[in-house]
This record gives sequence, C-alpha cells and structure tokens, in this order.
Amino acid sequence: MAKEPEIFCPACKKSPRIEDRWVCKPSCGTVWHTFWTGGVCPGCGHQWTETQCPACVVTSPHKDWYHFPDDDTEIEKVTTEAPEVIGA
Ligand SMILES: [Zn+2]
Ligand SMILES: [Zn+2]
Repeated sequence: MAKEPEIFCPACKKSPRIEDRWVCKPSCGTVWHTFWTGGVCPGCGHQWTETQCPACVVTSPHKDWYHFPDDDTEIEKVTTEAPEVIGA
C-alpha cells in the first residue's frame, strides 16, 4: 500500500501552509496552491519543476519536497578497509 508522502521544504523542513499561494509568472498569472496539483498550473497546464519555499524563499526541485516514509535516501555508510602499515 502506498503511503502518503510528507511534503516539506528540503531546505528548511517547513511544510507549505494551506493559505500559501504560488503565481504562474511570467506565463498566465494564475494564483494557486502548487502542492494541490503537483506543480502543474491549473491555468495553462505548465509543469513547474522547481518550487520556491514560502518560508525560506529557497527554490528547490518540486519532487524534492515529497518525502516518502519508506524512501531510503540515506547514504549508506561505507566501511573502508585498509591494511595496516607495519613500520620498516
Ligand atoms: Zn524552506
Ligand atoms: Zn499558468
């Protein structure tokens, strides 16, 4: 079963609020909530691949806002092994 992703800014970890709005500029000027449509402007159908955070104003790729609980994005710790040097 697919779980709902958590949506929050990859930079500041703040979730977009219900009252936040984005404007399709310079295209059609539609004002809407970009996370209700997955970054697609309901006015002109433009797919915005980047989304600016209303909280910290950092622009991040839209898909980076979605954080799935099962998503194993943590970098695996690689154990490096090297033979010890024996003094000559
Ligand atoms: Zn942010
Ligand atoms: Zn538009």
